[in-house]
Order: sequence, then structure tokens, then C-alpha cells
Amino acid sequence: MLPCPYAKKCGGCSLQNLPYEEQLHLKQAKLIKLLGRFGRVEEIIGMEDSTHYRNKIQAAFRSKSGKVVSGVYQSTSRRIVEVESCMLEDECAAPILATVRKLCASMKIRPYDLESGQGFLRHVLIRKGFVSGQIMVVLVTTKGKFRSERSFVNELLRRHPEITTLVRNINPTDTALFLGNESHILHGEGYITDRLCGLEFRISPRSFYQVNPIQTEILYGKAKEFAGLTGSEVVIDAYCGIGTIGITAAAKAGEVIGVELNNDAVRDAIRNAKANDIKNIRFYNNDAGEFMRGMAEQREKADVIFMDPPRTGSTEAFMSAAVSMSPGRIIYISCEPETLARDLKWLTSHGYKAREAVAYDMFPFTENVETIVLMTKQS
Ligand code: SAH
Repeated sequence: MLPCPYAKKCGGCSLQNLPYEEQLHLKQAKLIKLLGRFGRVEEIIGMEDSTHYRNKIQAAFRSKSGKVVSGVYQSTSRRIVEVESCMLEDECAAPILATVRKLCASMKIRPYDLESGQGFLRHVLIRKGFVSGQIMVVLVTTKGKFRSERSFVNELLRRHPEITTLVRNINPTDTALFLGNESHILHGEGYITDRLCGLEFRISPRSFYQVNPIQTEILYGKAKEFAGLTGSEVVIDAYCGIGTIGITAAAKAGEVIGVELNNDAVRDAIRNAKANDIKNIRFYNNDAGEFMRGMAEQREKADVIFMDPPRTGSTEAFMSAAVSMSPGRIIYISCEPETLARDLKWLTSHGYKAREAVAYDMFPFTENVETIVLMTKQS
């Protein structure tokens, strides 16, 4: 029997049928196959408890025979699979989602239907600060009027006093895209704050934040070790999100420059640097490749470059600019081994050597692997 009753329909956890140790072996074998030719691949770091690790929960809502149900998008389609509780999600989520379903039913708030374009509530996003315990709930709706808004909000907060902030996000598109661009605060600050590596980070609804805080802290420790900073280096944190890597490294660097495309994340990053009293860091809201090309054209140099691109990996524009800034070390953090291998191929044929790769199992039961690679400039 599979550990999760929804596994077959949902498809999100493709490694459900394997005991955890075997999942790790499978991931390790994949990494050796893809990355082994570039350098040493250390043993993958697994989790002690491989369930309920996700601090970000995304639920889709719909009507089923007149009932309000919630669940996840099937991995291969836009269909919603009804799920009452998920073994990967933080346990704070299921009771909150159950209340949202009940309140929708009793207050006649209809879930949105992608086919007909009718209805109001599309998704609910829940984020929990692992250390702070703060909980943000984001109700993603259409543009329509929020019926009984005040009573809904008051009742949800009364039943769940653990919710620290409640936000309405408006997603007017007719796609399965999760969040829209517009948000309104219904309660609290509109963001949560969490602690990571002993520092404080503010996380807004639309900002990227690693979903597995336990493994993230260990990964960032490795990133710092790989950087080997002594206090004088110029460091670039590319694809920096809310600035977590750069801010954690700043105390040991001369100067840090962060670049990120999402402007909400950049705003969080600037605020995070201030909150932690870090003065030697600057953030730029730009495409990382464009930004690096600009720096390279000005003949700027960097000693260490952290790069943590999305699944699609980096670009030649980014990498060629990075290489021309001649950093002694490039530290590549990746959530997709295939694009990592593609980019390592490029970097290793342009003057860099992969010294060590380590994977952290951030996503047990799924096939995703998070890997960090240290590359050094060849003399
Ligand atoms: N380093 C951060 C975020 C990594 S996720 C952390 O550890 O939390 C990848 C980030 O790259 C996301 O924040 C995404 O918004 C950003 N991104 C995606 N494409 C980008 C681009 N072309 N230029 C700059 N940032 C980009």
C-alpha cells in the first residue's frame, strides 16, 4: 500500500512506492549519472523525518456535486484532485483549508470554475514561518465582489487564531496560474517573518522562499563553506529572491550585490538587509543575465558568484558575463539536475572546474533534487 491514499490520482509524489532510503539512492544515482563526469559527487543528505516538510501549501478550490472541495492540480492536467490532507504539507494547513471549505459553503461563496469562468474563490496559499510559527493565508479570488467579506474574515480568524496575516490576492486570468498581481491585506501585516541561519526574513505572498526550511539551513551552511569568504570579497548573489543567501554571507564578505527579477522579492530583500542591520549589500531588480552583462561591460570584477536560477537553469548571457568577471569561485545552487548539467558543461568548457557537488533532499517523495556545486577558476 502506498503511504498516501491520493498518490495515484495526484501524481505529485512519483516516488511514493519507494522506501525513503531507496528514494535517496535513486536520486544519488541520477546525480552521479548527470554530474559525475564534472567532478566529485558527495552522498546526498536526506531528512530525518521526510514528511510534512513543506512550509508553503497551495490548494485549488472547486465545486463537486454542489459541495466545496479543495485539493491539488493533477501533475499532468488542470484537473483538481480532492485532497483533505497531504503528507508533505505542514500540519497547520489541513484544518485551515477545512474551515475555508466550510465557510464558503455556509456563506455561499462559490469556488471558481476554470471551464465556465464562474465562481469566486480560486486558490488558497498558506505559508508558515518554520521558526517563528507565523502563518499567512492568501485567498486567491477573481475580481468579483467578496460576499460577506468581513464575516468570512472574522470567522476564519476566530476559528484559527494562529493565522497572523490574511491577504486577498486577485487573479483575473483564465489560466491555472496560481497568484495574480494584485493583493489586499485583510488582516495583519500582509507578510510573515521567519528566521533562517539566525537571521530574520520577511516573506511576501509572491516572493520565492525555499519550501523546506530544515534542509535550506543546511544547504546555506554549505554555500557559505564553499564560498570560503575572508571579509574582503566582492560577492554576487544572482537570482537572489528575498536575499537569503547574500544576507547570510554578507557578514563575511566585503560587499554583496544581489539581483532578482521579481520586484516584490527585491523589496523584501532590501527590507531584510535593513532588519538584520546589514549595510554592505545592494539589491537590483533586473534580469540576472542583463544585469551581469552590464557589470561585465563596465569591467567590474567579482570574487565569488552565487547563482541559484529557477528550474530552467541559467543562460549563456549570464554565464558568459559571469566568467568575464573572473570570479575565483562560482557556487551554483540548482533545483533541476538536468539544467544544472547543461550549465556545468558550459562553465567547465569556459575556464571553470567543478570541485564538489552535494545534493540536499529538499523534496522527499518527489523526483526533485536540490544540488549545490562548487566551481573554481582554473589557472
Ligand atoms: N536564491 C533565492 C531564490 C532562488 S529561486 C533563495 O534561495 O531563496 C530562483 C529565483 O530566481 C526566484 O526568486 C525568481 O524570481 C528568480 N528569477 C527567475 N528568473 C530570473 C531572471 N531571469 N533574472 C533574475 N532572477 C530571476
